[in-house]
Amino acid sequence: MAEPLGDLTRTHTCGALRADDVGADVTLLGWVHRVRDLGGVTFVDIRDRAGISQVVVRDDDALMTAVKRLRSEYVIGVRGVVQRRSDDTVNAKIVTGEVEVLAREIRVLNEAKTPPFQIAEDSPVSEEVRLRYRYLDLRRPRLQQNIGLRHRVTMATRKYFDANGFWEIETPILAKSTPEGARDFLVPSRLHPGEFYALPQSPQIFKQILMVAGMDRYFQIVRCFRDEDQRADRQLEFTQIDVEMSFARPETVYGVIEPLMQAIFQEIGRDVTLPMRRMPYAEAIAKYGSDKPDLRCGLEIHELSDVFRDSEFRVFKQIVADGGTVRGFAVPGGNRYSRSQLDVLVEQAKQMGFTGLIWVRPGEPPLSSVKALGEPTLRPALDRVKAAKDDLLLMAAGPGDTTSKLLGQLRLAIAKKDNLLNPEAFEFLWVTEFPLLEYHDEDGRWYSMHHPFTSPVDEDVDKLESDPGAVRAKAYDLVLNGSEIGGGSVRIHDAGLQSRIFTRLGISDEEAKLRFGFFLEALTYGTPPHGGIALGVDRIVALLSGESSIREVIAFPKTANALDLMAGAPSPVDAKQLRELHLKPQK
Ligand code: ASP
Repeated sequence: MAEPLGDLTRTHTCGALRADDVGADVTLLGWVHRVRDLGGVTFVDIRDRAGISQVVVRDDDALMTAVKRLRSEYVIGVRGVVQRRSDDTVNAKIVTGEVEVLAREIRVLNEAKTPPFQIAEDSPVSEEVRLRYRYLDLRRPRLQQNIGLRHRVTMATRKYFDANGFWEIETPILAKSTPEGARDFLVPSRLHPGEFYALPQSPQIFKQILMVAGMDRYFQIVRCFRDEDQRADRQLEFTQIDVEMSFARPETVYGVIEPLMQAIFQEIGRDVTLPMRRMPYAEAIAKYGSDKPDLRCGLEIHELSDVFRDSEFRVFKQIVADGGTVRGFAVPGGNRYSRSQLDVLVEQAKQMGFTGLIWVRPGEPPLSSVKALGEPTLRPALDRVKAAKDDLLLMAAGPGDTTSKLLGQLRLAIAKKDNLLNPEAFEFLWVTEFPLLEYHDEDGRWYSMHHPFTSPVDEDVDKLESDPGAVRAKAYDLVLNGSEIGGGSVRIHDAGLQSRIFTRLGISDEEAKLRFGFFLEALTYGTPPHGGIALGVDRIVALLSGESSIREVIAFPKTANALDLMAGAPSPVDAKQLRELHLKPQK
């Protein structure tokens, strides 16, 4: 039976008591974490968000009756006096481990059913059960820490932006379709039959309009919605730190975001060295085969085409003559791979899509998997990739980007296999100058690589019609350890250029007017040059807390196939609700 809270008032959290508190009269409120009956004395661990304290109950009859009733997860109030633990019961693993509370009163504030899994133990539980009973899962220390860290990250963010003259401004959730390229969630309008709001994929248009409106510096910690098929670690709704500022060049944005990252990483006591590295997209692809290179390991890809232009190996010579490339990288310590390990590597490369992977062991003379390759070409190739004698050179040939991308995949696979990615390191990188447009063969047209409001690099504007694929954008991604944690751009602020881009994208004037007419009109009323970025809160907090899934840092995430197992969403609704929304279920 539950007893009333009455006059019980918390004096300390369960994580607060220290040796200095010995002798103090305290009241703790929390959950029964564990009960250990040692005969004559019983220890009750009481837990709240802040930690765990040990409560001792001696042979005091009245209290013993209360203690006998206690089960895991009962909610209790304890009044008592803090005392030093005996030497053999000091627990150095917890911050309150030097002291305990000698109970004078224990009140059961609520009982609890036996939970489907132990909160006190980090025993493995299926994710399905964890998500169904999320409120119990959230009581476990790991998730409490993650959610606490998330709170500190968003607080640090708000503090930082406030100190730097940014205003947090809310933008609508019931909005009009935004152009981030994913599917929209639609909300049927009851008041306007047959019409729909869209949940924002991002506040992109609104934040740009705020710049037109003279708001100068905006940020928002905002939920965004994208109705995508659930790939790997995505959520239908996710949180971004969304930023926009007037009179911005890409460097202006980096200058604001880098110290923000510093402030955020302070929350886990880590320093971030500034300025962060920058690398144009084309270089990232050529050297690392990825637009989000993990720079925790070197393994840089080098251009070797010139070395093989006149090679005795006809395959390479021909590929280079036809405009292709030969590229390769050195694997640190790779010379120790046995012959059979090399065979496995070559096989693995085939499965990745390589037409051929060639290895070279440095030595006197160097030894290659291709007999036709002799010392006169192998030596300069080894020098180019800076292979030491313990290293191994891996090479492939073909079209430049394809070859680099394949080598990039292999580079990562080897780095993981050989433990070259230090889990303690944080390597930030700005990838800059993304291409503005990408061509899709399926429907034979150009698409924005970022979104259609992204500004081309000034020198490239002339190529919009003549060589669209070569136009670089003032677009950038912030990459951390091979994960994209944010992306943004300087925007087009000129209505004329904006319609030129729409034409290039095959969006007719009519369609542009229908979808973004209000925005295009706004641009004509004195729009300042502006730019911004959005950073993924879920991903950042996951990286900070060392979690591999963003579900571990979201209080109520959906499963990988988009279900809320606790509340049971999505769910059918009744016919009346549908009628009111002017919807007819299709059978
Ligand atoms: N709206 C973009 C996004 O959500 C970010 C930006 O361009 O600021 O990815």
